[in-house]
Amino acid sequence: MSEFYGNPNSPNTNDSKVVLVELMEERKKFLEDKYKLLNEIKTIENKINQLDKMIYSICKHEWAIDRSSYGEHTEYYCKKCNSYKD
Ligand SMILES: [Zn+2]
Repeated sequence: MSEFYGNPNSPNTNDSKVVLVELMEERKKFLEDKYKLLNEIKTIENKINQLDKMIYSICKHEWAIDRSSYGEHTEYYCKKCNSYKD
């Protein structure tokens, strides 16, 4: 790492400062992209949650035992909307 950023005592200190500023700028851009995408994911998750609730309340459920679940309790899922019973 220190070779890449340059030795602070070397005559290239100014160059390594420029590199550092550029790298930090690039990092900042990626962080901004990351936060934008995380916000988008949150929005999408909220929409999915809303749709799940609407689907759950509208569907005339047809419950069946979930054979893929090996928990202590028997789980039921709806054959029509794939929701799980609360
Ligand atoms: Zn259902």
